Amino acid sequence: MPTRPCWVEIDTSAFKENYRFLRSLVAPETELMAIVKADAYGHSLNLCAPAAVSAGARWLGVTSVEEGVVARLACPTARIAIMGGIFPGQGPAAIEHSLTPVVWDMGQVDEIENAARTVGGASGSVPVHLEIDSGMSRQGVAPGEIGPVLARFGGDSPLRIEAVMTHLYASDEAGGETTGHQLQRLEDAVSQIVQEHATRPQWLSVGASAALLGTDAAAIATLAHRYGLKPMLRPGLALYGLAPHFSPAFEAGEFPESLSAAQGSLRPVLAWKTRVASVRTVPAGAEIGYNGTFVASEPMRLALIALGYADGLDRHLGNRFSLLVRGERAPIVGRISMDQTVIDVTEIPGVEPGDEVVILGSQGTEAVSAFDHADVADTIPWEIFTRISSRVARVAV
Ligand SMILES: *Cc1c(COP(=O)(O)O)cnc(C)c1O
Repeated sequence: MPTRPCWVEIDTSAFKENYRFLRSLVAPETELMAIVKADAYGHSLNLCAPAAVSAGARWLGVTSVEEGVVARLACPTARIAIMGGIFPGQGPAAIEHSLTPVVWDMGQVDEIENAARTVGGASGSVPVHLEIDSGMSRQGVAPGEIGPVLARFGGDSPLRIEAVMTHLYASDEAGGETTGHQLQRLEDAVSQIVQEHATRPQWLSVGASAALLGTDAAAIATLAHRYGLKPMLRPGLALYGLAPHFSPAFEAGEFPESLSAAQGSLRPVLAWKTRVASVRTVPAGAEIGYNGTFVASEPMRLALIALGYADGLDRHLGNRFSLLVRGERAPIVGRISMDQTVIDVTEIPGVEPGDEVVILGSQGTEAVSAFDHADVADTIPWEIFTRISSRVARVAV
């Protein structure tokens, strides 16, 4: 049965090109884990994870064991990191599907170790990534407290530390000092791990899109090499075609080459579309939508479109944003309803039921980006993407 027309188009070749472009920015031994958590930032894990693998990604990053199980079905040979940690009872599934948990507390170590022992895992046969809290105070072992955690590895433990990981929380601040401080704290932890852990971890996993495109990637690589580790970066947003905005921004002379190259080369992967359901003419004085927050000051032509805030369109965009129809900008008038929205097409001749409307993406020479949505909705592109509701079909193009 044909569905209500509200859908997202995913350009998997743009996604693959973005991965290859990011690859071209780093040295060959640097690993780029493709971050596909939260259903690939709303872009469909089932479409994007295999695209990442076919573009050369060896590692996928997801949030949870349940996301990992879905990724495993789509990508039988990829390495899959569980970045949000494992929860009680999830150890057996993590082992069964060869998922690699990020760990930072004893309960998690217990969970994965017990599951590994249950299946008779040989010593050092189950890799985990150990997260260090280098300053974000979100997850990770404090650098001064890794002794007891390290004591859980080695000997006959089935676990081994394959990567030391941390997350940078201010790598989108040009010229800031936070990342330097984080890397110092990380270095304290790495030197202790390299001394005390039976085998040397392979990777130092640090840095998301902003670190990769800004100025931090070189410092991460230097730190990794100093201890005989290989750098791993974990881009998400850039894979979906957006270079993060830096705030404060770079000074004119200090703009990183990788960032300007990214602005020219990354291609948006997602387009969000609907169709005009019906068109009406209203007289001057007509109130439009809940509470009549828009009143027509002259006769107007209005188009009803088949999406609302339950589809993920932020309600703050009512009376404050325009969508694209027939290649032109049509202002949203009145409040956005749960499932419907009204746009003003008075100035756009010929609009009729069935016309395609672009909510996010391009049409003709006009484009609406996730940054445009985020600016008006007072949020960030990551949230704009991830809250496009699951009832909106994702279609590969
Ligand atoms: C989401 C996430 C990333 C990717 O971040 P982007 O800014 O989208 O590139 C990397 N690492 C961790 C731990 C994350 O949670």
